[in-house]
Amino acid sequence: MTAAPDALPPLAGLQTARLDWRRDDGGEEAPHSAAFDDVYFSRHDGRAETEHVFLDANRLPERFADWQADRPFVIGETGFGTGLNMLCAWACFEAHAPLVARLHLISTEKFPLVREDLARALAAWPDLAERAARLVAQWPEPVAGVHRLWLDDRVTLDLHFGDTTERLERLDGRVDAWFLDGFAPSKNPEMWQPALFAAMAARSRPGATLATFTCAGVVKRGLKAAGFAWRKVPGFGRKREMLAGEIAAPPEDRRRAATPWFTPPAARPARHVAVVGAGIAGTSVAAALARRGVAVTLIDREDPGSGGSGNDQGALYVKLAADTNPQSRVYLAGLLHSRRLLATLDPEQALWMPCGVLQLAMSDKEQARQTRFLAHHPLPDSVVHGVSADAASRLAGTPLDHGGLHYPKAGWVRPAALCRRLAATPGVGFRRAEVTGLTPEDDGWSLALADGEHLAADQVVIATAALANRFPQTAALPLQPVRGQVSRLTLPRGAPTLERVICAGGYVSPPMGGVLTFGATFAPNQAATGVRTADHAANLAELEATLPAFVAALREAGAALEPAGLEGRAAVRAASPDKSPYAGPVPVAEAWAADYARLAKDATRVRETPGRHHGGLWISAAHGSRGFSSAPLCAELIASRICDEPLPLEAPLVDHLHPGRRLIRDLIQGKHDSAS
Ligand code: SAM
Repeated sequence: MTAAPDALPPLAGLQTARLDWRRDDGGEEAPHSAAFDDVYFSRHDGRAETEHVFLDANRLPERFADWQADRPFVIGETGFGTGLNMLCAWACFEAHAPLVARLHLISTEKFPLVREDLARALAAWPDLAERAARLVAQWPEPVAGVHRLWLDDRVTLDLHFGDTTERLERLDGRVDAWFLDGFAPSKNPEMWQPALFAAMAARSRPGATLATFTCAGVVKRGLKAAGFAWRKVPGFGRKREMLAGEIAAPPEDRRRAATPWFTPPAARPARHVAVVGAGIAGTSVAAALARRGVAVTLIDREDPGSGGSGNDQGALYVKLAADTNPQSRVYLAGLLHSRRLLATLDPEQALWMPCGVLQLAMSDKEQARQTRFLAHHPLPDSVVHGVSADAASRLAGTPLDHGGLHYPKAGWVRPAALCRRLAATPGVGFRRAEVTGLTPEDDGWSLALADGEHLAADQVVIATAALANRFPQTAALPLQPVRGQVSRLTLPRGAPTLERVICAGGYVSPPMGGVLTFGATFAPNQAATGVRTADHAANLAELEATLPAFVAALREAGAALEPAGLEGRAAVRAASPDKSPYAGPVPVAEAWAADYARLAKDATRVRETPGRHHGGLWISAAHGSRGFSSAPLCAELIASRICDEPLPLEAPLVDHLHPGRRLIRDLIQGKHDSAS
């Protein structure tokens, strides 16, 4: 057995669906796929068909009414199309499920509709208008990967953009009921392959049901071979028959057989969770858990948003690698996720501004890197595109000497205010205290506080940045403190402004409330937080090197561009050795060293022991200076795992974020050391 990681394709935009709008029997227009020459739904009786084929054949009204589990009911669909099936499932859930129940929808789509087509298609169903509006408002960019949407307090939709089989193979989660859709097998033979049915089986809960409109032989044979039992039932309208079925005993998930250390720990009760650390990582986890009905105690020795997340203004941006790597995939997914979250949380944009970010190519080397990036990663222009110096100048609203990359979706946030808003989520109780120790109990954890008190919780999430490895349970996770100081300049009347966040060596945001914030310094292994004039000088020098014309205009307007006259703030961020965050369960380091000791001698021979973890202990840390792009997605990942839900990231990226990855790397490298 080898320990090779899954190969990842480049970051990619998807081809969007080409539609014809055709009139059906009743003279109403309905979407038709030009590529597949098939209909998305019949305008005449599409709703009734969805209800008959997918909802009733999966017995959803009864199952929703009976749903008592702590976890959400999960529906998986192949081919999201216009979303009609999923919106109908949501309506059915609302009509039948008890108020405490939750619903999790997963759907794949290789050729997403453009937003205008989606809205036009769904306009056919006036009584779904409110639901359709929620979907259309959050409709993601056509980028391969998982996009999580919050349809309402109880209903989540994960859109897995990309090829169905590939997406299901990468899905980390299990399904209770399948909607097997996706154009007729005769029109779309590539999708209806044995690998699709095998992937569905491997992602099914025991007893998962399925329904499909087709009775094609290839489907019957494929389902049977994968372990599904099916029967013919009356079809809808003129279709005589369709298939309904179930899988009693789905196959074991073998995906992590080659990397058993990443096997997730078994689900445990999570009525009350303690989150330690109230920066962007901790407040995001607290809010994500509270939204799921978990009682959260958020603990920090300072008020929420006081440490590394405590600036008034910070950039929401990413720096993507020229070559494909998992870290870039995580950060791109994180940026898109944060943007959707912010738009839902704060539609008035009091806490953030999606003004766009320019990443300037100040050197030939950076120019070459950006050119390679654009050539390797065919992303939509709405996500990132190259710009000349002239175009960049127009976008920035100030003359620039260099072009670069423009990220229209990125921008800036108000970090401290955002942390406070997240900490105020109903269900989160804040406690100002210092946690000095963690002790496992039979049914949870006991947290020792500096004032001598103890606090009990079912589970604990550590989110204390550079201090996150101060507990014995986390001591083996390497973390580096990185001091960063920002500078703040109060602008005089008539000072020039900026229209975009500009990044090069540092970053500068458009002024907020008459104050220009720029920086930040980057000083690894320094943990002092006093403001230094020398750091202001470094920030000013960087600003002038990046934006000479802008700085000249500031001077002309009378701005006090002297290091001693600037205000600022210094804070400590945390970085892991590979610069990706830690987000997941905390490994028992000594057990890993013992269980996987053989990796040191031969990394191709893996003992299939699942990774041992400190049950109910989690970490979200090492977000560096890009926490606004990574922490909210990592919070969803941890909350989803704690609540036994499908994850918002594909399995290889979940593994990339695993806090134990470094332990394995070190074990494997031990072999190299002794061999050399
Ligand atoms: N369930 C949809 C609804 O409620 O509107 C209708 C689905 S439509 C009939 C079929 C969908 O499957 C199309 O959107 C098509 O782009 C998608 N599709 C076809 N082949 C696919 C594949 N290999 N992977 C992912 N999606 C695919």
